Amino acid sequence: MDVDIYARLSRDRSGLSENTTIQREECKQYVCEQGWNLIGIHEDNDISASKYSTKARPGYEKLVEDIRNNRVDVVLVTEMPRLYRRMEELLDLIRLAESTSLQRIETTDGVGYHLGTGEGIHAAVAAINNAMLESRKISDRVKRKQRARAQQGLHNGGSRRYGYEWDGMTICEPEAAVIRECIERSINGEMAWRIARDLNERGVPTTYGKKWVTANLQRMLLSPRIIGVRRHLGVDYPAQWPAITTPEVQERIRIVWRSRQQTPGRPRGARTYLLTGFAYCGRCDQPMRGNGRTLASGAYQRRYRCSPIDIHGESLGCGHMFRAAEPLEQFVSEAVLYRFDSPEIALALAGPGQEGEIAKIVTEIEFCRQKLNDYVDDYASGLLDRTQLARAKARTESELDEHQDRLSSLQRLQNASRLPNEPLRDAWNEMELESKREVIQLVVERVIVHPGLPGVKTWESFRLNPEQIEIVWRV
Ligand SMILES: [Zn+2]
Repeated sequence: MDVDIYARLSRDRSGLSENTTIQREECKQYVCEQGWNLIGIHEDNDISASKYSTKARPGYEKLVEDIRNNRVDVVLVTEMPRLYRRMEELLDLIRLAESTSLQRIETTDGVGYHLGTGEGIHAAVAAINNAMLESRKISDRVKRKQRARAQQGLHNGGSRRYGYEWDGMTICEPEAAVIRECIERSINGEMAWRIARDLNERGVPTTYGKKWVTANLQRMLLSPRIIGVRRHLGVDYPAQWPAITTPEVQERIRIVWRSRQQTPGRPRGARTYLLTGFAYCGRCDQPMRGNGRTLASGAYQRRYRCSPIDIHGESLGCGHMFRAAEPLEQFVSEAVLYRFDSPEIALALAGPGQEGEIAKIVTEIEFCRQKLNDYVDDYASGLLDRTQLARAKARTESELDEHQDRLSSLQRLQNASRLPNEPLRDAWNEMELESKREVIQLVVERVIVHPGLPGVKTWESFRLNPEQIEIVWRV
């Protein structure tokens, strides 16, 4: 008998993986005992491939090739599910057995499936069916158990989460203190990357001793876990563990970030260009970004450029608009400082004692979210039909948008209290880039750079034509 061994590393059945070495050794021993002639050993690693993956199994392909070349009488596996993930594959092999030397599949527990007989084929199909059913049962059981645990608000198990001990139910006080600090700082408008940098500098690590980055910090602060919510397959259940903060606070963080276009999950490095995100090309209306160059003299010139491509390489702007950074930044800074000197602005930006109003809006936002959830339940239970659901959702969503807009403008104004105590004009030169950006953000919507030769006119000894710079004010 000429035999091919097939081994496969998979996580299909019990969630556990077996080393293919064990499968291989077991098969080799069996071949010896039977006194067979070993032709080849083929193996695959399915662990990384998903259940629905159609990714090729190179080992299996080689096995089929051996069969096609009539080199094999028996295919040996430790158990049937090693050979197949899908019934179709077994059917292919049965068809191959009709035209090749292949006679049977055998497992190391001594069961042979003779592919030339109806009984053998039936037994093989049944074996695969049973294996599929068994694996289905196990996964259903696991899923039911997970859902039950979620409904009871119990910890998922697995890795430890920041702020909680290993049991997932007890607060880890030193980490909870870090979370509260990060919350406070975020609400006060500090950028996530700066908080992360500060934690790293102070030697405060993540759960597993790693460094903080914008993304993991933002994920942690917005996690349902810290507001005492157990989320399972998109559904929230009240958790049994204590919360570290409240949904209202988390909502405020979300809104502060949104008002600064600090999208969670998109880390940003330290900037060197004051007007990134504000400057727009007047020719094509696309953002202008920092694009420095080394001059013939060897000096480095900072410039803004309307980028022809975005960070993903997709085409974006016209690419023809350039401006030296220094004059543009000085001009905009000057205009902003001038703006701040005006009494209307002072009035518009002064806003202490808005806590009450903010709290009210946050409550309404929560209420809207709750309503949106309820609609889905009502739809599921037949109280609303699809059209009614759509109408109700649209109404509440636009209400939600309004609340969020109001809140984000309030937040922006509230941040004005973070301005330096001394006159802004005196503090400006000493201020950090990010702080300057925060100030600009308070009053400037965008800075549009219109086409034209910048060198024709001068402004403050710079080659800059002020008429080409249009500032769109927020207030
Ligand atoms: Zn352009």
